[in-house]
Order: sequence, then structure tokens, then C-alpha cells
Amino acid sequence: MQVKIVGSAAGGAFPQWNCACPNCSALRAGSFRGKARSQAQIAISADANSWFLLGASPDLRAQIESTPELHPSAGLRQSPVSGAVLLNADIDHVLGLLLLRELQPLRVFATESIRRILTEDNSMFAMLQRVPDQVRWTDFAPGTWFSLTDPSDHDSQVRCRALSVGEHFPAYVSPAKRLQLSGGETSLGLFVECPSGKHLAYMPAVPHITDALREELERVDVLLFDGTFWSDDELIRIQGSGQTASQMGHVPVSCSLEQLAQLHRPRKIYMHINNTNPMLHEVSPEYRQVRDAGWEIAEDGWQFEL
Ligand SMILES: [Zn+2]
Repeated sequence: MQVKIVGSAAGGAFPQWNCACPNCSALRAGSFRGKARSQAQIAISADANSWFLLGASPDLRAQIESTPELHPSAGLRQSPVSGAVLLNADIDHVLGLLLLRELQPLRVFATESIRRILTEDNSMFAMLQRVPDQVRWTDFAPGTWFSLTDPSDHDSQVRCRALSVGEHFPAYVSPAKRLQLSGGETSLGLFVECPSGKHLAYMPAVPHITDALREELERVDVLLFDGTFWSDDELIRIQGSGQTASQMGHVPVSCSLEQLAQLHRPRKIYMHINNTNPMLHEVSPEYRQVRDAGWEIAEDGWQFEL
């Protein structure tokens, strides 16, 4: 299975349009030792023809253009993008679906709660349902395996299992709506089993690390883990107000480095990195600490085979 890290930043990307934090300012000034990044997006394919997206980022149009494997190749209107798997309903994780609205057949895999948030609360998503064979929503339940099938029901032989990592409703979901939904279906990590039998874990938002999670992660071959913030009060220190990393559903890297230090089997890669994170700066002590601990820091365009 081919895995492409098409985008590696958290919501807002790096640099972020309204941010003059030390990282964003230095990058714009040309004095930053590190790379710009687009918003988190993974693409996987078992046959290099049919691709499935993990999430659908707001940067998806540009990300498709910068990824030749995702370009249309045959016919006037065609796409190798067969579908998407959604792990939460945050704007930076789902907005790209609306960019795929050109009457293109697509499978979207989501929990019932995430599907209902998007299709019942956001009338714009009706643009994905204008004709009968456009987007087909397929519900999955956390904890159960499901196969990625394309719009023609061809089975890719790639299987997925979502893990509930907490309850997280985007701010746009009303209190009344939240009561109708299952909180455990709203914030997920994903285990992907390749046809080769190898396993990938994609965990872009992990609020805390439990023993059970650690055991699961020790069984995978490659781990793409929440690298959003370095420290719990990172945004508060930079902005002067706001929420802690934990309140936003992200365990800080300074903690996960310690809590996952005993994880030996997987290749460990931080991704979904916020523009304020000091580890983006490749001459910082934080960057050195992460690299010395055996972790990699994802960049846009990375790819590997499993
Ligand atoms: Zn910034």
C-alpha cells in the first residue's frame, strides 16, 4: 500500500493567514530553518490507481494538483480519488469534501454522528447529493473493521478500524444537536490494515494516552501521531488567551514523547503540527529533542510503502 502525507500541518496550516507568531513571521521573512506545510491530509492506495483520503483538508485542491498520482488520467471527467474516511467533523478535516463536489462519484466513510453533523447541520453538503450516484455515505462504528470500497463497490483489500479517542464536537454543533448524537463517534483515530498485512495508525487528535492505546500502537508498523502542540499552554502564551492543548483535545508533544518512549515497534512520525509548535524550527532544542528520541516530523510530500 502506498501512503502519501499530502499535508502535515494542523488547522490553519503553516504559515497561518492571520498569524504573526515567531514561526509564521520568521517563515515569511525567509529566516526560518524549516518548511511551510499545508493542512493535514493523507492519501492511501493499494493498487496505485484508486486512492482513498484520510480526512478531506481545506487545502485539498492544491494538494491534488501537487500530487501527480491524484490527477485525472482517463476520460474528460475522472479522478483516481475513490473516497474519504472521516475521523471528526472539524472544518479543517472535512471542508475538502465540498471541493470534490463536481458530480464526481465518491464513497465517504464516517460514523453516523459525523455524517449527521455534516449533512443535517450544514446544508451546503447537499451539493454532494445532487445526483443519485454522486457521494455515497457509508457508516461505520468505532471498533469494527470495514473495507474501503470504491464507488463501483470494488474492494481495495484495505481494511480500517476506527478507535474512539474521546468526545469532540466542533464549536458549530449546537447543544441540542449534541444531545442527539453519540459523543464516542465524534473523535477518532484510525488503524489501517494493508493487503500486505502491515498496519498504519493515523492519530491526528489524541487527548490523552492510555495503557490500552499504547498497547494498540505497539502493534503497528507506522504511527502518524498528534504533533499539534509542543506544550499545553502554547496558544495561551502566544495569544495571551485561549484554550490549553488538552482542552482542544491534543496531548502535547512534550508529554507524548515521554509517554510513548517505550514504543519500539513502529516507525514514529509526528504530524498535524500547529504553526506555533517550536519543533518546526530545525535549529530549535525542541526539534533536536524529538529527533534524538527517534521520532520524525512529517513534511508535505512524504511517501512510503507498507
Ligand atoms: Zn503562527
